[in-house]
Amino acid sequence: MSAPSPTRVSVLLPFPFDTAFTYMAEEKLPPGTLVRVPLGPRMVVGVVWDDPPDIKIRTKPVADVLAFPPLPETLRRFVDWVARYTLSKRGDVLALGLKASLLVEPKRRAKNFSFGRADISLAGPDLSVDQGAAVDALRASVTAQKFAVTLLDGVTGSGKTEVYFEAVAACLASGKQALVLLPEIALSVQFLQRFAARFGAAPAVWHSELTPAVRRETFRAVAEGRANVAVGARSALFLPFPDLGLIVVDEEHESAFKQEDGVMYHARDMAVVRAKLASALCVLCSATPSLETVENAATGRYARLDLPARHGGASLPTVSALDMRANPPERGKFISPVLAEAVRATMARGEQAMLFLNRRGYAPLTLCRHCGHRMACPNCAAWLVEHKSHKRLICHHCDYGTLVPLTCPACAAKDSFAAIGPGVERIAEEVRETFPEARVLLMASDVIAGPKQAAEAARMISEREIDIIIGTQMVAKGWHFPALTLVGVIDADLGLAGGDLRAGERTVQMLHQVAGRAGRAEAPGQVVLQTYAPEHPVMAALLSGDLNAFMAQEALQRRPGHWPPFGRLVALIVSCPDEKLADQIARALARAAPHGTGIDILGPAPAPFALLRGRHRRRLLLKATRTIDVQSLVKDWLARTDIPRRVRVDVDVDPVSFM
Ligand code: ADP
Ligand code: ZN
Repeated sequence: MSAPSPTRVSVLLPFPFDTAFTYMAEEKLPPGTLVRVPLGPRMVVGVVWDDPPDIKIRTKPVADVLAFPPLPETLRRFVDWVARYTLSKRGDVLALGLKASLLVEPKRRAKNFSFGRADISLAGPDLSVDQGAAVDALRASVTAQKFAVTLLDGVTGSGKTEVYFEAVAACLASGKQALVLLPEIALSVQFLQRFAARFGAAPAVWHSELTPAVRRETFRAVAEGRANVAVGARSALFLPFPDLGLIVVDEEHESAFKQEDGVMYHARDMAVVRAKLASALCVLCSATPSLETVENAATGRYARLDLPARHGGASLPTVSALDMRANPPERGKFISPVLAEAVRATMARGEQAMLFLNRRGYAPLTLCRHCGHRMACPNCAAWLVEHKSHKRLICHHCDYGTLVPLTCPACAAKDSFAAIGPGVERIAEEVRETFPEARVLLMASDVIAGPKQAAEAARMISEREIDIIIGTQMVAKGWHFPALTLVGVIDADLGLAGGDLRAGERTVQMLHQVAGRAGRAEAPGQVVLQTYAPEHPVMAALLSGDLNAFMAQEALQRRPGHWPPFGRLVALIVSCPDEKLADQIARALARAAPHGTGIDILGPAPAPFALLRGRHRRRLLLKATRTIDVQSLVKDWLARTDIPRRVRVDVDVDPVSFM
């Protein structure tokens, strides 16, 4: 054996650099090794990467080799892949999972920290015939240990969760790890309880609200294989699973899976990539799958499993459209007498009602009755939203907030402000007036801020301490409350305004999800949609329940123009505190834009939020046919354009938001 000899290694750092830096090591370090290295005056943690080191430059030595399992090759390739696809720097992508603080030895061990190993000897429930068939198919795929994607499409309450739990069990039985992605992990109390009931232990949980100590323990437990199941938000994709066999993406259609800042990636799509690199099975679950996934299933790229009926003979709720032109609410109110009567009847039967409005706060607009002045955010092209509970006007796009002024800032009139339109707080106020005897619970992200409050809310509803729940999209998904039989949608038309590509699809998905909360047990469910456009195709789809027909219609509309999923989109968002400069750079980008067959450039145009957090924003959109390598095109495009330091150009591949 020869003595170790100094050698050069490349190290990728979790900072905004695309290239790995070269350092000197005392001996050869395998790729994936975690090291501490100098970066300028600091010491930072990085990962030995697979790139060839630079042999020409002078280098500094690696300070330390950390006692930590190497980051698996599949994760390293995943970081490279995501960076290339999203046109991000590799260091930024690495940082999605690896934070330097993760690796510092803890002063104290985490206290609230409690996951166990899932026990696969526990028996699952007796399955229905459909469920059994789906479970058999998933078991076969997961034990094949080959890459595959399966869409699990089942109506709300059909037992999708029970079914994929069996796939998790099969994965663990084959000695591999499983990952379940949820759109809003911080609020998924019921899910975690069900998991613990099925597997005898809580899973490892991963989301942005974890304390640093819990984060560190979890990261290490996954790396060492001690945690065999992780449940997490999108960034859980970047956990260092040494041996991943299954990724489940629950509610795969959810736009919450798209990260809208920093590295703009879609966790559903990247889950498929992660599974491919790990030769694992990816299961995409939804009662309302996205058109992207439906198309992939139709062309045979994905397998498809259907659960057409609710578990235990529960029927799907009946849905009706309430034409607000014929049944208007009283002046200054928002609940039609017809819906109010349905709520009353529900309470009389001892059942629960839920009123849904996807808008936080009291009123979305505050204006002066005297001069018409509207209270707007100074930093954003947005109105301030009144939050009565906080006695403030708040911008939902930046942190700006102010007390409701006593006089109008424009005309100095006293007490002249009027609240225009409803938010959930205002609906709660109306409900308390209309049903003084009812026990009311408001659920919105500013009132139910974390897992603790969510758990308490779920407990109160389950134990029938609540009659009427009023909530934003927070109440739409996942919940299972057997006594909840009426869902009233206050403004079913709300999501249709604005007209972006997926407005109709998204509205159908959200309203179908919220409707799916009704009548999940023996008592039949009823859904009332308050609408001014009962003839709209979105309402028709919800009434008939035939979502497949709706999606087929969507496909027909998008296919000819090569709109996603039949073509690709990349958005460039130019932003700068100086409006003229933002315009100038947006125009320069337009002049330098690529052209050719199958390529369209739309814009530049002011973004719908033309001012956001003090930056003026302009958008360009590249639309291309599917065979075009849009990443190379955009890279060259940006390289051809001089972009001053004050101007930021964000690149959003496969945009979901067009704001
Ligand atoms: P989905 O995820 O499709 O909305 P769930 O998995 O939440 O459906 O199932 C709805 C309810 O029915 C849950 O309370 C679940 O525990 C129950 N359930 C589903 N399948 C079974 C089964 N085979 N045996 C017992 N309970 C079941
Ligand atoms: Zn603002």
